[in-house]
Amino acid sequence: MANYDVDLFVIGGGSGGVRAARVAASHGARVAIAEQANFGGTCVNRGCVPKKLLVYASRFPDQFRASRAYGWQQQDAQFDWASLITHKDTEISRLEAIYQRNLVNSGVVIHAEQATFEDANTLRLATSGQRVTARYSLIATGGYPHRAVFPGSELAITSDEAFHLPELPGRVLIVGGGYIAVEFAGIFAGLGVQTSIMIRGQQLLRGFDEDLARLLAEHQTRRGIALHTEQFIRQIEQTADGLRVSSSTGATYTVDTVMLCTGRKPNTRALGLEQAGVAVDDKGAIQVDAHSRTNIPSIYAVGDVTDRLNLTPVAIREGQAFADQLFGQITPLELDYELVPTAVFSTPELGTVGLTEAQARERFPDIRVLQTRFRAMTQAFAGSEDQVLMKVLIDNPTDRVVGVHLLGEGVAEMAQLIGVALTASARWQDFRRTVALHPSIAEELVTLRG
Ligand code: NDP
Repeated sequence: MANYDVDLFVIGGGSGGVRAARVAASHGARVAIAEQANFGGTCVNRGCVPKKLLVYASRFPDQFRASRAYGWQQQDAQFDWASLITHKDTEISRLEAIYQRNLVNSGVVIHAEQATFEDANTLRLATSGQRVTARYSLIATGGYPHRAVFPGSELAITSDEAFHLPELPGRVLIVGGGYIAVEFAGIFAGLGVQTSIMIRGQQLLRGFDEDLARLLAEHQTRRGIALHTEQFIRQIEQTADGLRVSSSTGATYTVDTVMLCTGRKPNTRALGLEQAGVAVDDKGAIQVDAHSRTNIPSIYAVGDVTDRLNLTPVAIREGQAFADQLFGQITPLELDYELVPTAVFSTPELGTVGLTEAQARERFPDIRVLQTRFRAMTQAFAGSEDQVLMKVLIDNPTDRVVGVHLLGEGVAEMAQLIGVALTASARWQDFRRTVALHPSIAEELVTLRG
């Protein structure tokens, strides 16, 4: 048997790669990891974590407004973008250091540089020039923002730059209607930026339950976010008054910042996949089987670079399963991609588990839909027009709950636990016999009638 420098070489120190490296090392494997940017990857540095901090910041004005109804006198609150970004960066550095420390404490050798395959079992490190041979490799390099190319597209930013804007723009145009677009629309609008969204279709959040997407659009309109539908950017020009955006409809919009949120691409840049013989699909994602193995037996891949379900906890589960199976001979926990709970941290936020109504109707002939829409007590008391939407989809013959879709305050936290119920194959009868917790928003979910 050939001798290798390491048992496992992980490329990419994000959520999936770090989990796999640590677990493999805990099973006794000799592990090295290469990360060319920041440990923690997109989630910690340019994604979920800083995004959620900005979302929290953007929701304070609503609370300040509501506080008057609760007897608090008006405060003269001033917002300072620079201090938020500085504080956020301090927190991200702290988290990144924890990621690195955990790797070192697990016995993983860290290479803070780019790694490229020379062949299926040899990696070359870009800065040190070092060569490392590996019995197995794991590609966990994530994704990067897709940037459409059109005249002036270089004047636009993506989510990568949005976390480090030197100042808050006065006017922003967000292109795209997915997760990142609606989350940043909520952040900017909440912080007082004149915000608009441009989508090529008619509806935000394609792929989510349509009732949720429609109600989110209503709320966003009420919050002053303009929605420009069925159009795309033809060009952006720099003018004295800002960026002049020409749309495919002939309309023009002048803003300070254009942010492209038109999806993400698998990050296979400079990996040397050809030298290793690793196959990618037509979108550039690394093709893997159910065990995350590529077409090359010694090379595996997890997370966004495989474009399965691009969410941090999914990458973590894939990384854990890979390492447990290969180095611990442990059968991994089953991962049902259809029952992964997910949230969109727009304002108001969305929480969802299972099939959308359209998917459920396609899959099952006899679907019952229970739905309620109401103003929560906190909102009604404060005079807010915000509403909560709850929608439950039931397969009638079996009484199985096949989808739950929520919009409103705090629903992301609910979605996590509804995920437990649906993973345990809960029936509607199980929801119904659960006693309501009063007074709460979530209680409406077990008292729904239909
Ligand atoms: P999404 O895939 O969610 O949305 C992409 C959006 O861009 C869609 O509205 C799409 O329109 C539009 N679009 C795509 N190509 C073009 C184009 N050429 N011109 C105009 N519009 C275009 O991508 P995001 O970038 O928002 O997010 C990337 C991924 O990151 C998500 O899929 C998600 O997995 C993850 N993520 C998760 C979060 C969470 O869990 N809360 C938060 C943020 C990101 P159309 O609908 O017409 O196709």
